[in-house]
Amino acid sequence: FQQSFSINLVALLKMLCNDKKSKLQALLSVKEKKYYSLRGRHCETHQMVGNYMWNEVLNKEFLIGTNPDSRLPLWWNGSEPLWVTMQNLGKKVFMYFWPGCEVEILNVRPEFCKEYVSSPSEEDLIHSITSSLAALSSGKADMAAVYYEKIDVEGHHFGPESLQVKTAVQHLDLTMQILNQKIKNQLNVMLFSDHGMTKIQWMEKVIELDKYIDMSDIVKMMDRGPVVSLWPKNTTYQKVYSALSQVHNMRVYSRQEIPERFLYKKGKFVSSLTLVAEPGWFITKNKTTLPYWKNDSGEASAWQNGWHGYDNEFLDMRGFFLAVGPDFKKNVRAAPIRSVDVYNLMCWTLGVHPLPNNGSWSRVEYLLNGFESPLQFGMLWTLTACCFIRY
Ligand SMILES: [Zn+2]
Repeated sequence: FQQSFSINLVALLKMLCNDKKSKLQALLSVKEKKYYSLRGRHCETHQMVGNYMWNEVLNKEFLIGTNPDSRLPLWWNGSEPLWVTMQNLGKKVFMYFWPGCEVEILNVRPEFCKEYVSSPSEEDLIHSITSSLAALSSGKADMAAVYYEKIDVEGHHFGPESLQVKTAVQHLDLTMQILNQKIKNQLNVMLFSDHGMTKIQWMEKVIELDKYIDMSDIVKMMDRGPVVSLWPKNTTYQKVYSALSQVHNMRVYSRQEIPERFLYKKGKFVSSLTLVAEPGWFITKNKTTLPYWKNDSGEASAWQNGWHGYDNEFLDMRGFFLAVGPDFKKNVRAAPIRSVDVYNLMCWTLGVHPLPNNGSWSRVEYLLNGFESPLQFGMLWTLTACCFIRY
């Protein structure tokens, strides 16, 4: 294999740490979940601020990539993803089930894109990895990226500490063992999650907005769960804001009031009011609109038991990052990094000059061969429980 490919696998593993959209990134976490686009930018910079967005001026909606309008450049062109940079440099990128790889961003698409489908199977994962290795070893690809959602799905349905999540992680681990045997440390591999997950008490910790406000005062409502975006009518803004300020277990923010640490408030698609629930609470219009999932009966009636997107200072929202390969030191336990830091590591292993980004090189360079470890912090690293991503 050539030495500069990265296989990126995004998975949600609460048991390895946590974070998912939670929030150090709270908002981010909620929002960027499926559009982890490898740009090394905060979401207020790249503009992809949620799974559900509304462009008020054009009256266009982005619905987690499922509607035709979600492929409009206006959502995607806020900054340049790594695969676009690669393609522009004449390097080929293969992507499997990676949300957004089917979209033309800044007039560029990856060399190969296996379009995202809801919850790819274990067979899909194995095929993606086998196919990636074939493309990399034959020189058809310079980088491959694989997105795997099974652990996230099981976590939502059964909760982050469920047997089903553990089983999904074990299956992923088995697949990684197969990968390891094939690559024999000749390939740089990075494995990371896009968020953590926490247990939710569905139906018990629900905030029903129609109990507090007249929904006809709202022009548009986007998303439900830990973070909800509201656009009240101009004439009802103050009335809605005042009513929601009284609601327990959540906060309502005007654009200006959104905490800076969310790195979210300057986004173009941020609503005039943003609601953020306390961990474990779920905001929705009414219980009848809760996102049930289909159980074995086929009825959309079962409860959810896990969610992400809460304040990213909530530890359950943290993710993890693992890396192995010829460019990486062995047996190094990293101090916390942020999800935006992964971009610089990927650029390094790929031999690509990084674009201006929000990551910190000093937080990750010591993980690479040839870079000194800052000894003064060595003790701190060894005390860190695991390596994880802070968004
Ligand atoms: Zn999820």
